[in-house]
Amino acid sequence: MAATRFRVHHLDCACIRRLTIHGRPLGCHCLLVETPANGLVLIDTGLGTCDLHDPVTRLGLSFSYLYANPKRDPRMAAIHQIRALGFAPEDVRHIVMTHLDLDHVGGLSDFPHAKVHVHTLELDAAMTRRTFKAKHRYRPLMWAHGPDFAAYSEEGEPWFGFEAIRQLQGLPPEILLVPLFGHTLGHCGVAVDAGDGWLLHAGDAYFDPREIKQPERECAWKVGTFQAMVQTVRSERLHNQGRLRELHATHPDIRIFCAHNPFELEEARRTSRSLQTLPA
Ligand SMILES: [Zn+2]
Repeated sequence: MAATRFRVHHLDCACIRRLTIHGRPLGCHCLLVETPANGLVLIDTGLGTCDLHDPVTRLGLSFSYLYANPKRDPRMAAIHQIRALGFAPEDVRHIVMTHLDLDHVGGLSDFPHAKVHVHTLELDAAMTRRTFKAKHRYRPLMWAHGPDFAAYSEEGEPWFGFEAIRQLQGLPPEILLVPLFGHTLGHCGVAVDAGDGWLLHAGDAYFDPREIKQPERECAWKVGTFQAMVQTVRSERLHNQGRLRELHATHPDIRIFCAHNPFELEEARRTSRSLQTLPA
């Protein structure tokens, strides 16, 4: 039986000006998946309207000015781009999170009615904020509206050799969580079979495609330093990059991209057969 055909939109929901790769500011690549029976599914949210309106309160002084300095353009919020596509915010019934870092969850409060799917370890790390690093990256304000979290740790049948969490509540089997720990304790990729091949949103598992898309790992120094600074478990992060490198080499048909690379985002938009959107 042919797989269900989902339309996938590649949204860019942040412009992180201070962190650049090959001269370009980092973006925040989120997916909007149109499913026939389960409404709209958003994968990561990027920065939301509250963040863009009041970055210092929401994101903190250091993220706002020192190491990220995001562009304050309200048109970058996912909710704006979703409305521009002709949908209502309520049409987003599910949000699947790669992890709960501040630059990925800012848009959650724009979709308070959505169920939010996340790995159990990540939700626990974000709620308990046990370390100095955790206190900076996880911002309780982002979930002060009380999201309807659904947390998972039970793995099902593997996905191309990777552990996989399948059967997310209310979601079709073509959308699954793929644990890629290291950047954070419960960091996952999100795999989507849109009907014309698999996509893997690898979140912050890497920032520079050369980390996984060529035989010898290379990484631009700025994003390399940043990743080392914010990683939770270095050995797991590098191990998972090795597994992604092997996946890419053995299955070049799987379209892998990370959350922040502007070149991969452009490539995904170029090669996607779905309609795309840019801020109006
Ligand atoms: Zn990030």
